[in-house]
Amino acid sequence: MDELQARDRTARPPTADLDEVDTADGVEPPDADMSGEELTVPVSPMRSDELQCPRCFLVHHRSQFVLRADGLNVCRECS
Ligand SMILES: [Zn+2]
Repeated sequence: MDELQARDRTARPPTADLDEVDTADGVEPPDADMSGEELTVPVSPMRSDELQCPRCFLVHHRSQFVLRADGLNVCRECS
């Protein structure tokens, strides 16, 4: 009897605290992940047929790129 009453009394307050904690934890991590992904996305929009030169960082059409002997794919101006 005493044990059951003790559990009922202690069960309610912790439950209310957990709800507040869960809400805070549930909101923060997704926001942090979203902002992190947005930062990694290149600022300049690129089409599927366009590439960014690793040397001058300009976006050119695929036809403007030359694959060098060292394996680096750069635009004609940088080749
Ligand atoms: Zn270039």
